Amino acid sequence: KFGVVGFIGLGNMGSRMVDNLIKAGYRVAVHDINYNVMKMFSERGVPTRSTPYEIAESSDVVITMLPSSSHVFDVYTGENGLLHRGNAVKPSLLIDCSTIDPQTSRKLSAIVSECTLKGEKGNWRNPVMLDAPVSGGVIAAEYGTLTFMVGGLEEAYLEARLLLLSMGKKTIYCGGAGNGSAAKICNNLAMAVGMLGVSEALALGQSLGINASTLTDVFNSSSARCWSSDTYNPVPGVMEGVPSSRNYEDGFSSILMAKDIDLAAASAKEVGLKFPMTVQAREIYLELCDNGHKAEDFSCVFRHYYGGSDA
Ligand code: NAD
Repeated sequence: KFGVVGFIGLGNMGSRMVDNLIKAGYRVAVHDINYNVMKMFSERGVPTRSTPYEIAESSDVVITMLPSSSHVFDVYTGENGLLHRGNAVKPSLLIDCSTIDPQTSRKLSAIVSECTLKGEKGNWRNPVMLDAPVSGGVIAAEYGTLTFMVGGLEEAYLEARLLLLSMGKKTIYCGGAGNGSAAKICNNLAMAVGMLGVSEALALGQSLGINASTLTDVFNSSSARCWSSDTYNPVPGVMEGVPSSRNYEDGFSSILMAKDIDLAAASAKEVGLKFPMTVQAREIYLELCDNGHKAEDFSCVFRHYYGGSDA
């Protein structure tokens, strides 16, 4: 449906998402500030552009997958950004898949909706921005099994659905602008706190003489069952194929988790919500990072705090 899909941010996630777009038959143009990554794509015959503005000029839809709110804001509004040079833009749809705060998503969505569309393409008079962060991580990005949580105009969401499904297995419409970003940080907050609870309970069980595999079996057949117990268990040896069984490597890094909790804390503060669990979780994950575990999977909190490893 879309002519050219512009993609900005070819990191761990973005590079794999682009591969899946290409596999699905989309024509793409890509940009990243990292020269080596651009060279790699160019050598594979993928068209590259040297600025976000050039991406906007040559694309009908643009996807961004960048580290944080300030990067996304810059790529949209900065010098040679997507919206550079007046307010007429070519892409009818701009989709940000980065994990950022809902306030920035809403601000950008409002800026985009005030732009006009160059030419007659697209179904809306004005271009539309969707916030569509993902759940699933690098493996899901590679296998095209991401879940997209989407905020913005519903018509735009319906229009974008097939495109998103070429990189994922599920899309969930969360409501107006910023609601995708809100859903993402709430999901990750619950996951972060859940991981701490499961780790602490499994460590207590071990100290009381129950091994972690047996206790996990109990949890997973009882009311403590959750993602951290049945899919991503933090105790080495309890499950195969998870970061805890490969020395906490190749997972969702503690630094990204700390970033997401920061976003949740800032949002909770802004709306005046009490957030004691967020505060505690933030302290713990920041401490992990300060102690040299930034790059390790966030489930290494089990080893760091409780020391145990015997499943
Ligand atoms: P990454 O750091 O591997 O990749 C980010 C890419 O953006 C890099 O290639 C970098 O060079 C590029 N970049 C930075 N600033 C730029 C700019 N101004 N213009 C163009 N390119 C720029 O990060 P990632 O792991 O791919 O994560 C991307 C986003 O996805 C983050 O918001 C992250 O929180 C979210 N996310 C990550 C995971 C995961 O498991 N890695 C899972 C879910 C969501």
